[in-house]
Amino acid sequence: MTPDAARALLVEKRRETVARLRGLDESWADIVESARDANIDDEHDPEGSTVAVARAQVSSLADEGRGQLAAIDAAIARVDTGTFGVCERCGATIPDARLEARPTATRCVTCAAAR
Ligand SMILES: [Zn+2]
Repeated sequence: MTPDAARALLVEKRRETVARLRGLDESWADIVESARDANIDDEHDPEGSTVAVARAQVSSLADEGRGQLAAIDAAIARVDTGTFGVCERCGATIPDARLEARPTATRCVTCAAAR
C-alpha cells in the first residue's frame, strides 16, 4: 500500500470515528438530561439502574472510540515515519487486504495470533 493510500484510508477512518464519538456525546447528553428530568436517584430508584446501565454502555463505547482514535493517530504517525504496514513483531509486510480491513493493525496475521 502506498503512503498516500494508507493516509487516505486512515483519515477516512478517523473521520468516521470522530463522528461516532460525537454521536455518543449526544447520547450522553440525552441520558444526563432525561435522568435530570425524571429526577432519578441512581441509588434507590429502579429506573436509576437503567440510566446507570445506559450510561455505562455509552461510556465504554466512548472509551473504545477514543482508544481507536489513538490507534488511528499512531498509524498516521507510522505512515509519516515509513513504518506503516510493517509488522512490529517480525518486520514482515502486512498484506494490503489486512490493512484495508484493519488499518490500525500493527502486526501481521501470524504475529497477531501469536500473542
Ligand atoms: Zn509478524
